[in-house]
Amino acid sequence: MQARCRGTTARVQALLLGSGDAFGIPRAGCLCPQCVEARADMSHARRRSGLLLRTAQGTVLVDASPDILQQLDRVGLAPGAVDRVVISHRHGDHCLGIRDLAYTRDPALGPLPVHATTDTQAMLTAVFASILRPERPYLRFEPWGAGTRVEHAGFTLEGFETHHNAAIQTVSPCITAQVDGVVRRIAYATDMGVVVPSARERLQALDLFVGDGTYLGGPGYGHPGTDGTIAIARALGARLIALTHVGHWGVDAAHARAAVADDVVICRDGDDLCSLLA
Ligand SMILES: [Zn+2]
Ligand SMILES: [Zn+2]
Ligand SMILES: [Zn+2]
Repeated sequence: MQARCRGTTARVQALLLGSGDAFGIPRAGCLCPQCVEARADMSHARRRSGLLLRTAQGTVLVDASPDILQQLDRVGLAPGAVDRVVISHRHGDHCLGIRDLAYTRDPALGPLPVHATTDTQAMLTAVFASILRPERPYLRFEPWGAGTRVEHAGFTLEGFETHHNAAIQTVSPCITAQVDGVVRRIAYATDMGVVVPSARERLQALDLFVGDGTYLGGPGYGHPGTDGTIAIARALGARLIALTHVGHWGVDAAHARAAVADDVVICRDGDDLCSLLA
């Protein structure tokens, strides 16, 4: 039985706003068991990837998917409740919601700080020039890369290279925070190929590895498959393993559960990762 904590009021939260892959579940028009189940019971539906780190001091959003406004509304937050954003890479499921988020935020709050790699910055600048006009910038880019540290609201995020796609920079956060008085470390790697040596150095003593669940079983298209993700997490010595960025597996939840090792959590939208650490 997976540990779950929905709508928790815990002081430190790491809320999975979306646990799906690039296209979400259900897939339009698909009648496979996974999609049929998700339509019948929305708790099995998956929006695209996003993680909201939240304490009484503020928030950090990791990745702004095209679903971001609905995702925030689902947890009762306005766009202005997001203090800063870290974008892992420039694939659309991780960054194309940034315009909606920046546009709908209270202008009195000023430009939204967005930590992004140089190639993500270039892509967003080309696509969304209107939110970067010098006379009225809706967002402000900040650095993000392997080794970059972002500290906000009691969280420290340190970037590590995930080698997801040779053509683009992909840098995921290792998150450190005090949860119930204990310092915890969570690696959050939605899109990951292999562990490069510099990442291995940064991913010691992990309490939780939240990894790439795009494909059930073997690898494909820059993703390691669930078997590969679990092997990566075990090799790193992570105490707990969870899968997110869950793809179109084509099987219902019971069959998905049976296909993955018992001690590995298959995340769902709305999960609080901190609740897994108890
Ligand atoms: Zn993705
Ligand atoms: Zn389907
Ligand atoms: Zn990607």
